Amino acid sequence: MRTIFLLLTLLAGLVASCAAPLSSPLSSPPPTATPLPRTFQGALAYRWVVSQCGYGPRVTGSEAAQQARAEITAALEAAGWTVRRQPFTYKGVEAVNILAWKGDGEAVLIGAHYDSRRAADQDDPSQAVLGADDGASGVAVLLELARALDFPPADRRVYLAFFDAEDDGELDGWDWIVGSTWMAEHWGEAGEPPLQAMILVDMVGDEDQTFYYEGNSDPALQAALWSLAAELGYGDHFIPQYRWRMLDDHIPFVRQGIPAVDIIDFDYPYWHTTHDSPDKVSPQSLERVGRLLEVWLEGTP
Ligand SMILES: [Zn+2]
Repeated sequence: MRTIFLLLTLLAGLVASCAAPLSSPLSSPPPTATPLPRTFQGALAYRWVVSQCGYGPRVTGSEAAQQARAEITAALEAAGWTVRRQPFTYKGVEAVNILAWKGDGEAVLIGAHYDSRRAADQDDPSQAVLGADDGASGVAVLLELARALDFPPADRRVYLAFFDAEDDGELDGWDWIVGSTWMAEHWGEAGEPPLQAMILVDMVGDEDQTFYYEGNSDPALQAALWSLAAELGYGDHFIPQYRWRMLDDHIPFVRQGIPAVDIIDFDYPYWHTTHDSPDKVSPQSLERVGRLLEVWLEGTP
């Protein structure tokens, strides 16, 4: 009874202050009377990195990928998002994108891939990549955003996309960005409204975090985001200069004519190695990216 009473008290507090219910598939925290903050919390995001990696490498078609999807879906539904799975088959392997949405109005999409590469071909190709930064960091930002976003955020419908089959390119004849390509090419078929913008977060958790302009991103949207980052005090981490040109999950949306930006820190020494583990990811780094997206989506600092 005591636990139930405390939980009800807490939920009543949350309903008043925040759109996101407390329930979460993370290892259950003790009941507390303090509501979770409404702003994006790097420490909470980091817990998703740890739990996603706890399933092992989320290789497309694997049981770990299935477990990761179950966790993502449960977290989104607990935070009040509508969730739809997009199963498809690629080279005989079952892959599944997850698409979630909330709010009404101009549609924007924030995406991340949740799969991890099945061969760590930068050091030991016999092992799969755990993908703490390359995979789980983006998922973590999206899931904490799902909790922290206040709705309605500036009359927008926000889509959160979790792409499968991004990261096995050039292995056994596989392409890169398979899941996002599927989603972009099928966009609208289930009644989705046209997208006004797409932002991808990939490899965003490195402790030594630096984001440069990316060569395939929409220049105006990119400049606006980097300028907002500077306003938030993140100017040392968001450098308005070009450095990399990436083949990443934003490209299928660019091809559809949608302004899209890839927020990626590609200067990560553990990329596609067996060392891409949660200890290389920093809660503060996740928080900078999450806060930037939160402020951009909500339209107010
Ligand atoms: Zn990768």
